[in-house]
Amino acid sequence: MIPPSVPFVDLSFQHQPIQDQLDQAMRSVIQQGDYVLGQALKDFEAAFSQASGVPHGVGVACGTDAIALGLQACGIGAGDEVLLPANTFVATLIGVLRCGATPILVDCDPDTALIDLDAAEKAITPKTRAILPVHLYGQMVSPRRLLDLASTYDLLIFEDSAQAHLAEHEGYRAGSIGTAAAFSFYPSKNLGAFGDGGMVITREEIVAQTMRSLRNYGATRKYFHTDYGTNSRLDTIQAAVLQTKLPHLHGWNGDRNRIAQRYDHLLRPLADYGIVPIANHSGAGHVYHLYVIRVTAACPLERDVLQSDLADFGIQTGIHYPIPCHLQPAFQTLGYPAGRFPHAERMSQEILSLPMFPGLKDEEVDRVIQAIYTSLGIAPSQTPFPLPRSAQLPLKTV
Ligand SMILES: *Cc1c(COP(=O)(O)O)cnc(C)c1O
Repeated sequence: MIPPSVPFVDLSFQHQPIQDQLDQAMRSVIQQGDYVLGQALKDFEAAFSQASGVPHGVGVACGTDAIALGLQACGIGAGDEVLLPANTFVATLIGVLRCGATPILVDCDPDTALIDLDAAEKAITPKTRAILPVHLYGQMVSPRRLLDLASTYDLLIFEDSAQAHLAEHEGYRAGSIGTAAAFSFYPSKNLGAFGDGGMVITREEIVAQTMRSLRNYGATRKYFHTDYGTNSRLDTIQAAVLQTKLPHLHGWNGDRNRIAQRYDHLLRPLADYGIVPIANHSGAGHVYHLYVIRVTAACPLERDVLQSDLADFGIQTGIHYPIPCHLQPAFQTLGYPAGRFPHAERMSQEILSLPMFPGLKDEEVDRVIQAIYTSLGIAPSQTPFPLPRSAQLPLKTV
């Protein structure tokens, strides 16, 4: 008997229980007719920024625009160096390039996969204006250490919080450490729209004002253009969807954290086989946008073999991300050779993202783990937990 497959992400668990409210929220925007820069957008900007512990929020078309326009609104541009990790989604790098600044890539910590702040400090020059930490996979870069670094070298902190809605660490919420932060509401993010969306949140009134102008053709009032802006707004209808989902976000994040703890627990014996999760240094504050394991050199199986074994068992996985930014063909012009960021490069070869979404069941987590044990050639009877019958897989001969 082939057990049912385990999807990587399934958004229906978020949407089904609140489908009527979502329908009502969308219908009300359609009736109101304020599709662009409407009331529901203002309400959501206030609610989301406040939930993140920051006074101002400005909705934009996507997370990439939030980074590009947000940096621009902070006064970062041509001639300024911005520090960012080499192992991030390329949108972080694209955002920096689009504001006209010079990206300076930095290696990551080999355990947490977050930007290595010692390496960042070494990369500081007289031109360095900002540091752009990415709260990768849902856990925050240390606010204490970021603030120390920023005050020592007079740097602006701009957070890429696209994977860390409401994450917490050292008493800070994601997006509340520095001058401003970017969020994405891409459908599969911890808070996702029914399409693209993004937001810049900021403590600074002036940054918020500039952002409102930049996203609206640089206009400070109708047909009066003070900035070289663009058209990048979060649709009112998407804001209404996000506002409806926002009250559930904390609970969904809690689910993710609980699922991660089950994975952690069941994977612990596999450290002997060279399989280790990305380290969590923020406990319950980690919102696990992704649950990522490393298949290290000590593992008898290669990462790609494990991934294809899991696919054979109907378990969908992902790799976030298979090629670090500096090795992407598009960014060869930055001039970083292979080998320049050894931790980020090794990470890209070892990482594997396991199914993770609110609504993923314990039995499904067990089935994922059982499939990993089976792929390693460990019999079901030797697994450290009782498995439901449905989760038991035939032993693969290796
Ligand atoms: C998703 C994401 C972005 C980009 O957001 P979009 O809304 O897709 O433009 C930027 N940075 C990180 C780390 C992301 O995960």
